[in-house]
Amino acid sequence: MLKDEIAIVTGSSRGIGKEIAKKLAEQGMKLTIVGSSSQIAETAEELKIMGYPNVLPVQADVTKEEDMIAVVDKTIETYGSVDLLVNNAGVGFFKLTEEVSLEEWKKVFEVNVQGVFLATKAVLPHMKKRKAGTIINISSDVARYTIPNGAAYTATKYAVQGFSGSVAQEVREYGIRVGTVNPGMVDTYFAESTQGLPEKKDWLKVEDIANAVVYMASAPKYMMIDEIILHPFAQQYPIA
Ligand code: NDP
Repeated sequence: MLKDEIAIVTGSSRGIGKEIAKKLAEQGMKLTIVGSSSQIAETAEELKIMGYPNVLPVQADVTKEEDMIAVVDKTIETYGSVDLLVNNAGVGFFKLTEEVSLEEWKKVFEVNVQGVFLATKAVLPHMKKRKAGTIINISSDVARYTIPNGAAYTATKYAVQGFSGSVAQEVREYGIRVGTVNPGMVDTYFAESTQGLPEKKDWLKVEDIANAVVYMASAPKYMMIDEIILHPFAQQYPIA
């Protein structure tokens, strides 16, 4: 179903985004992978070595409008179209609100909210012209309930959820679907962590989120999956 279709995955140099890229490539999709550091080129090489030749790495910052326009332009130049945008790039930190600096507050909103807006804005004219496309935003279970010591991060994910719902309504008449995948704790490099630490053995794996993205993206065109929430069984949900 996704074979030969074209996807852009932001924040795909490591963690969840890298696995989403891998699983979409397994489905036969052609990919543009995006990250702000030079690691994105290494990830593209790894995917090519795994047997997926159609991977275009673009070093770009989701917070910059010109970068997101360039990502969409390069994708169309290379592959001719864009069928799927996965807004995955995100950052986070967990601390008491009074300990959060204004710079930290601005940064988490710029990456998590402005980044989703700019990539969506850049791709929509193309999808509207084609009257087709799917946008999947990797939000969080904290888009659905609040946690202490995470006010800034939680606020960004509530914003992503609101943005996604509004855009979904705007673009429905163009045959474009917008949904969110909302994970609980996932074993990645998130918040300056390391993937594979023993204390995270019961957390979700990156494959779990990537499988949810594949399921949502490959739903038949008559079907709309608005949201998938998943969390480790070990994680109390919702927080009492
Ligand atoms: P990681 O830190 O492992 O990966 C984050 C990715 O985002 C990296 O590839 C990073 O690459 C990229 N990135 C960060 N800033 C930018 C930027 N300005 N422009 C482009 N790319 C950027 O985190 P995860 O894989 O865990 O997180 C992926 C998404 O999943 C995030 O949206 C996060 O909020 C969400 N999530 C994560 C959960 C978890 O428990 N891990 C739970 C729920 C949601 P580079 O450094 O090269 O820019």
